[in-house]
Amino acid sequence: MRRSLLLRLAWRQSLIRLLVLYAFAVALGLLLHQLAWVLLLATAGVAARAYWRLYRVSRFLDWRQQLQTVHGQGLWAALETLIFRRQTENRARSRRLVGLLRAYRQAATAMPDGALILNRRDNHLIWFNKSARRLLGLNYPQSLGQSFTDIVHAPAVKEWLAAGVTDDSLMDVASPVDENQRLSLRLIAYSGRQWLLVVRDVTQLMRLEQVRRDFVANVSHELRTPLTVVHGYLDMMEPADNPEWAPMVEEMRRQSQRMTQLVEDLLTLSRLEAQDHLPEESIGMASLLVTLRREAEAISQGRHEISVLDDAACDLFGSAKELHSAFSNLVSNAVRYTPNQGRVEVRFERTDNGGTRLSVKDSGYGIPAQHLPRITERFYRVSTSRSRESGGTGLGLSIVKHVLSLHQARLEIESEVGRGSTFACVFGPERTRPRNH
Ligand code: ADP
Repeated sequence: MRRSLLLRLAWRQSLIRLLVLYAFAVALGLLLHQLAWVLLLATAGVAARAYWRLYRVSRFLDWRQQLQTVHGQGLWAALETLIFRRQTENRARSRRLVGLLRAYRQAATAMPDGALILNRRDNHLIWFNKSARRLLGLNYPQSLGQSFTDIVHAPAVKEWLAAGVTDDSLMDVASPVDENQRLSLRLIAYSGRQWLLVVRDVTQLMRLEQVRRDFVANVSHELRTPLTVVHGYLDMMEPADNPEWAPMVEEMRRQSQRMTQLVEDLLTLSRLEAQDHLPEESIGMASLLVTLRREAEAISQGRHEISVLDDAACDLFGSAKELHSAFSNLVSNAVRYTPNQGRVEVRFERTDNGGTRLSVKDSGYGIPAQHLPRITERFYRVSTSRSRESGGTGLGLSIVKHVLSLHQARLEIESEVGRGSTFACVFGPERTRPRNH
C-alpha cells in the first residue's frame, strides 16, 4: 500500500516538474524568439538527466553495489527507494540464512554421533562431521565423493544400504579404524536424493550385552548339574514307600522338571544368540509336517481337532534342527492355549513372491492386541498362571524369533481374543528348494 502511494506521488511530482519545465521553456523561447531551440535544449536536458539516473539505477541493480542514499524526488528517486528497500531486505535475509546455516553446521559438527550425507543413487559422500571422521577414519576433503561401501567393507552394510532400511539400525558393524570398535548405523531419508547416515559407537553397549549373555549362559550351565542330581534323587523316591509324601514328591518332580526346561531354553537362546549362521541343508517338509502332527497329537491327547495341510509342494533350506524346534514351539503353544475340542491347523504354503509360509492357526483363547508387540520378549506372558499351568517357560516365542531371524524370516502374529491366533513363519524365496519325492 505504502509503495503504491509512493509511486503515485512520485509520478504526480515528475509530471508537474516536466510541465513546469516546459512552460518555463516555452515562455523563455517566446521571450527570446527562439522557441524551437529552447524546447530542443529543454528536451535534451530532460533526456540527459534521465540517462544519468538510469545509469545510477543500473549500477545499484548490480548486487555488489549497495545503494547508499536516495537523492531528490520524483519517479527516479522512487525507483531508487524501492531498489534500496529490496536490497536491504535481501541482505538481511541472506545474513539470517548464513547465520542459520552456520549454526546448523556447528551443531552437526559438535554432535557426538557421526553424521554423513550420502547420495542415494551411488552412496557417495557429500558431507560428514568431525565425529564421522573419527569413527570411520575419514579425511577432509579427500573422502568426499568416495562411496560409503568403499569405506566400510562389510557385505551386510552393502545389502542394508541397497535395501534402504530406514526403520531399524544396523547394529554391530566393525569400525574401519579399529576392528574392536563396534558401530551402529542408522539411515534417515530426509530428501528424495540424499540419505542422512548416523553412526554411533556402541562398543560399550555390545560389551555389556556380551557380559549379560555370558552370565545367563554360565548360570544356566552351572544349574544343570545340581538339577540333574535333584532330579535323580527325586526319581529314586518311591511314593509307595511314604504315601503321605506322595503329593509333595509329585510337586517337587514337576517343579524340577520346569526348572530343567527353563535351563534348557535359556541355553538354547544363548546358543542361538552367539551364532551368526547355522549349518544349513534342504529340509524334507513332508516328513517334518508328519512329525509336527504327531507332536501336536501327543500334547493334545485327543482333546483337539488337529489338521496339517501341505500346499507348498516344495522344501525349505535352513537348519532342520532349529526350524523343527521353532515350529514345534508354535504347535505346542497352539495346543496349550486352546481349550478342549478346539481346532489347530498347521499349513505350509507358497507366498506370492515365491517364498513360503508355515502357519499355525488355533481356535483358542487369543491374545489381547496390547500384548502383541511384546509377546516375543523373554518371559513375557499374557497370563502367567495359564502359561505355568500348561508347562510354559515364557521363552518359546523368543527362541522362535531368533531362529527365524537366523533364516532372514519373520514371524507374523494375528490374534483375536476368544476366536484364536495365527502364528506364521514367513520365508523369502531364497529359502525355497524343489521337493525331492
Ligand atoms: P510360554 O512358554 O509361556 O508359552 P511363549 O514364549 O511360548 O511362552 O509364549 C509367550 C506368551 O504368549 C504365552 O505365555 C501366552 O500368553 C502367549 N501365547 C503364545 N502362543 C499363544 C497362542 N497360540 N494362543 C494364545 N496365547 C499364546
